[in-house]
Amino acid sequence: MSGTPAPHQQESSSGITAVRSAGDDGATPMMAQYLDIKKNYPDSLLFYRMGDFYELFFDDARSAAEALDITLTRRGRYKGEDIPMCGVPVRAAETYLSRLIKRGFRVAICEQMEEPSARRSGGGGKTPVRRDVVRHVTPGTITEDNLLDARAHNYLAALAQTESQADECALSWLDMSTGDFYVRTTPVEEVSAGLARLMPGEVLASDSLFAHPVLGSVLKAQEAALTLLPDRQFSSIAGERRLLDYFNVKTLDSFGDYSRAQLAACGALLDYVATTQMGEMPVLNAPVHETAGSIMVIDAATCANLELTRTLEGQRRGSLLSVIDRTVTGAGSRLMADDLTAPLMEAALINNRLEAVGFLVEEEELRTALRGDLKACPDMARALSRLSLGRAGPRDLAALRDGIIQAHKAAARLNAITPKTLDQFSSPLLGDIALAIGHHAAGLEDHLTRALGAPDAQGRAGYELPPTSREGGFIVEGYDAALDELRTLKDESRRIMASLQERYAEETGIRTLKIRHHKALGYHLDAPSSQADKLMAPPFSESFIHRQTLTNVVRFTTTELSTLAQRIEEAAGQALELEHELFKALAEEALVLRDNIMSMSSAMARLDVVTSHAQLASEQRYCRPVVDESRAFRIINGRHPVVEAALVREGANFVANDCRLDCTAEEVGRQTMTPARRLWLMTGPNMAGKSTFLRQNALITILAQMGSFVPADEARIGVVDRLFSRVGAADDLAQGRSTFMVEMIETAAILHRAGERSLVILDEIGRGTATFDGLSIAWAVLEHLHDVNRCRGLFATHFHELTVLSARLDNLANATIRVKEWEGEVVFMHKVEAGSADRSYGIQVARLAGLPEAVLTRARDVLTWLESNSTPAKTDGPSDLPLFAGTQTGAKNTSDPLHERLKEIHPDTLTPKDALELIYDLKKLHTSLSDD
Ligand code: ATP
Repeated sequence: MSGTPAPHQQESSSGITAVRSAGDDGATPMMAQYLDIKKNYPDSLLFYRMGDFYELFFDDARSAAEALDITLTRRGRYKGEDIPMCGVPVRAAETYLSRLIKRGFRVAICEQMEEPSARRSGGGGKTPVRRDVVRHVTPGTITEDNLLDARAHNYLAALAQTESQADECALSWLDMSTGDFYVRTTPVEEVSAGLARLMPGEVLASDSLFAHPVLGSVLKAQEAALTLLPDRQFSSIAGERRLLDYFNVKTLDSFGDYSRAQLAACGALLDYVATTQMGEMPVLNAPVHETAGSIMVIDAATCANLELTRTLEGQRRGSLLSVIDRTVTGAGSRLMADDLTAPLMEAALINNRLEAVGFLVEEEELRTALRGDLKACPDMARALSRLSLGRAGPRDLAALRDGIIQAHKAAARLNAITPKTLDQFSSPLLGDIALAIGHHAAGLEDHLTRALGAPDAQGRAGYELPPTSREGGFIVEGYDAALDELRTLKDESRRIMASLQERYAEETGIRTLKIRHHKALGYHLDAPSSQADKLMAPPFSESFIHRQTLTNVVRFTTTELSTLAQRIEEAAGQALELEHELFKALAEEALVLRDNIMSMSSAMARLDVVTSHAQLASEQRYCRPVVDESRAFRIINGRHPVVEAALVREGANFVANDCRLDCTAEEVGRQTMTPARRLWLMTGPNMAGKSTFLRQNALITILAQMGSFVPADEARIGVVDRLFSRVGAADDLAQGRSTFMVEMIETAAILHRAGERSLVILDEIGRGTATFDGLSIAWAVLEHLHDVNRCRGLFATHFHELTVLSARLDNLANATIRVKEWEGEVVFMHKVEAGSADRSYGIQVARLAGLPEAVLTRARDVLTWLESNSTPAKTDGPSDLPLFAGTQTGAKNTSDPLHERLKEIHPDTLTPKDALELIYDLKKLHTSLSDD
């Protein structure tokens, strides 16, 4: 959690309190200035510009030196102590910044706002140059490519609430690096699902929201990403004004209806962006209103458990996204991740996407060509964002040029589809894409090509260009006559200089006389020391002026050379200035067309996603699901995409399985291989594949509703509004919750919120407590899901006792996974079928896991005893088991401790002293038993 440069925050330990008495504490004027600036950024590192370095002091220096593994030194003293210091060179600052941001630091960048010379000539004496923070780099406000993951959005989110609407919240989020901006209203209990879906880099919330009983813990879970702001930053009146100002409109009517809380959330975002960027604003789209009920709700636990975009360990590799993502652009990959965590709920919209995918599955040649176009399409959205913030370089302009070129190529391909084919193909999506990417962009592409040159043959255009415009040299010849003239002058002067060197060498007879350039001295002549005397004596001393003597060379200049050098430097300076102006003009021209470029970029991203789905479908034999408004759920030969991919890598096969949660009247009761009821109770041996089966059906649902084909032979899914999955929980020690507590919290959320259109996946309810407690909870949960929630669902359990419920509950069916026993070993068939398992084969699985043979033998004995005594409470336990000896209660309890103690005595081994002690022991035991 962190705060912003807000005055309400606590002072940090890095000497802020000392600022007030800076003078008294012997701070130098520079240190006083440092402390004065630092006090506004207590939770951030302050990069304090000093010449070619950003210096860090005090605690900042200690933290940065450790994080960056750089030397910690000291500079001067403050309050009688050395000041710790470390520094990073300005030209390499981005790399260091990137490392710090990745480690969770925030950095305030403080620049020199005037030339040191200005301060000197101004007679300021010891006054330091004016410095100011020009940018506050926080996790949610990054724009540099090397600080961002090209394939992931970096959202800055804000939560706001108004007193009159206590049960809901406004959630708004934007990605500064792409311009995406959204807002929605969310019930309080779904805020954590909303944040889990976005995985924001930074979340803004007010102090009072942090004190909210429910939202407080949701926000706390955001940890380092949380930034608390004073309540006043969430004023809806100020928020409305900020939106009006930013979008330069008189009314927000055309942007849709905003609630007060939504205005507050959007306004807080805009304000925060302005504060961290010191007034520079990126290009942002008008906030898109996401309406309630348009997106499937996947709560935070489900999102994590199903490993949609990241595995439980936080890796992309091994997640569903990593297996299905065939996109070839960063923007496409970002959109794919967004779609995956926000599956649609409107069948028509889903089918629109599916139609486009279906078309591209069929049109293989077109698909391959489009993927080629997309591959060469740079990240236009991020380039545009940097342009708007004045942080762009020539490569960003080239990215726009190449993006537009590639978009036009793809548009031409789509537009070339014959009308006959188009007739067959009812999705307007590809048509819409073709329209957006075919936009003319008012000749920008042509203009950029003339200015920067054409992209190279590999389509890797832009890479040859410098990353920043600082040094110039990126505008090609022939684009601007004035620039060409200045460059000619510069080149011409260089040629004259070369002939001057030749002439001097000839005139003086010093063949090794060379004209060189030195940063401080400028152009000069280098003569070897052995021959320098010649130039210092007449006649040469009249024209050769001595500048410097070094060990091996002596440096001279001449009036002619100085004049020429001045001409070169002037021309170079003017050329650079002109190039900067041309760059600015091109950037402005691009920004005028920002709406067109943005929609072109989003349409290319959508094209990348549908093409990726089509590619995946044809590579992996995915089928087109039928998605409608019914309550159907029928997956024929479904597969788990991630487990299948892993098995295929190992050369094994995945066993496909059906899942039919249909409950159409005609099907209930019909004999099928798999039962067709709304709820399935899955029993089956350990390791048989229950969890895999449960998850695969959840994943297939998500894939279908995001508009992807699915890993199955056939699939029909009536739109699911909420997906709940409780599969294996871990301790949440940070929040003080045990495994069982987490399990019960998640289960409670499901029972409260699942409805008839929801899909619930429950794996192993009640395992974290005593057997009978667990069984009772599982029993009651199953009944509740069946009778009250009435959702579709899969319920896996090792409590075989639950299978009797199917006789009583009409919409509950028993399903199991087949195994075979062979020579005492269990063979997993992974095939789901109707019925219930008779046992769990836990001991066989434990053997596979390598439990010691002695333990396995003992476990078998215990199991045999337990199985032959179905109600252990009423029978004897195995006599030699202290476990059972100690816990058995009931009518006939023969495990008399006195009796047991006597049995343990071996008289032959007792010494007389032991025997005497034993008699006392036995007497004592007898007394205590009699007392009981
Ligand atoms: P437990 O009850 O012990 O948690 P489980 O029944 O939930 O076990 P899973 O974890 O789903 O079993 O599966 C165990 C392993 O079996 C998987 O890691 C996978 O390698 C393999 N497996 C599961 N389902 C299939 C399948 N349909 N085809 C092939 N292999 C499978």
